[in-house]
This record gives sequence, C-alpha cells and structure tokens, in this order.
Amino acid sequence: MDKQRLLDQIKADIIKNNVCPNLAKTATNLVMGEGNPDAEVVFIGEAPGKNEDEQGLPFVGAAGKFLNEMLAGVGLERQDVYITNIVKYRPPNNRDPEPAEKEAFWPYLLRQLKVIQPKLVVTLGRHSMEYFLPGQKISQIHGEAKRRGDLVIMPLFHPAAALYNGSMRATLVDDFTKIPKLIELIKKEERK
Ligand code: URA
Repeated sequence: MDKQRLLDQIKADIIKNNVCPNLAKTATNLVMGEGNPDAEVVFIGEAPGKNEDEQGLPFVGAAGKFLNEMLAGVGLERQDVYITNIVKYRPPNNRDPEPAEKEAFWPYLLRQLKVIQPKLVVTLGRHSMEYFLPGQKISQIHGEAKRRGDLVIMPLFHPAAALYNGSMRATLVDDFTKIPKLIELIKKEERK
C-alpha cells in the first residue's frame, strides 16, 4: 500500500476507535497532518488551534506563518516536509492538551512516523518533546539532536511561544538553521 493510503488508514482508525470523544465533540476537524509522506523531516507541534480546527490543517495561523518563514530560511517549503501535532483535535479555548489526551494520540503519532520514516523528527514545544525525550527540559536541550531507537529527535521551542519573545525567537531561528546540515549528517552516517 502506498504511504498516503497508510496515513489515511491511521485517520480512519482514530475515528473508528473513538479517540478522545470529548475533544472530537467540540472540534470541527480531525487535523492529521500535511505535507510530503516521503519527507526527510517531520515537525510535531502540540494541538490544533482555532484556525487549524477550521481549516483541518496544522500550523496555518500566526505560528504557522512563522514556521513557513523559518522553513523558507533554510530553503524548504511546506510541501517538502511533513507537519503534524501530538494531539489531533483542538482542545477547547486553546487550553493545553491533557496528559490523557497526549497519551491517547501517541500510538497514532508513532504510526505516522513508521509510515513516513523521516531522517529527522523536530518537536516543537514541550508537549511533543516530553514523549520522545521524557524528563528533559527544553530550555536545556533545544537544538540538540538525540538518537532514540530508529529516530533522531531535535527538540525546538514552539513557534507560538517564540513569536513575541525576542531572545527565544532568535534562539529558535538559529536552531532551525541546523536542520539541513543535520539531515545531511544523518544521511552520511547511514551510507557508512
Ligand atoms: N500550534 C500547534 O502546536 N499546532 C498547530 O497546528 C498550530 C499551533
């Protein structure tokens, strides 16, 4: 089966298994992800906000605009990468996703990664980082690549948090520039 069909199957399973029925009730759309199923890099945010819920696409509001700018800064477009969230329904009033909600969606996120098989996973903010790198502090390890099993994880600050915070913004933009070099390094190691 091709990758897009496998990704569509994950979406169908979330609906069939009635994942987070309370969130599903208040959400307009199940926001699975967007981009290239063959992407070398997958970005994982927290949960859809208002714009994302309305459009059914991840990172299409102010944080998404900033993410697009940073992608362009390293020569990438949204179609080159894959963008998703740990929680796939909008939490009401943009509250933080609850641990049980992240837990419920985690197996489906892992399935997405198994299908896409990216060289690099970039977590945006602590909600997605804490599942890949439990017990770590984003302020201490942002921009550092960590290997966990088959995956290489690079945690970054969340673009929404960094948007209006000058020093965090500069750090995020700087960390972002490491992405293409890191992917090349990972590919070089694989060829050895
Ligand atoms: N913030 C997120 O974490 N994800 C989105 O899709 C949009 C904003």
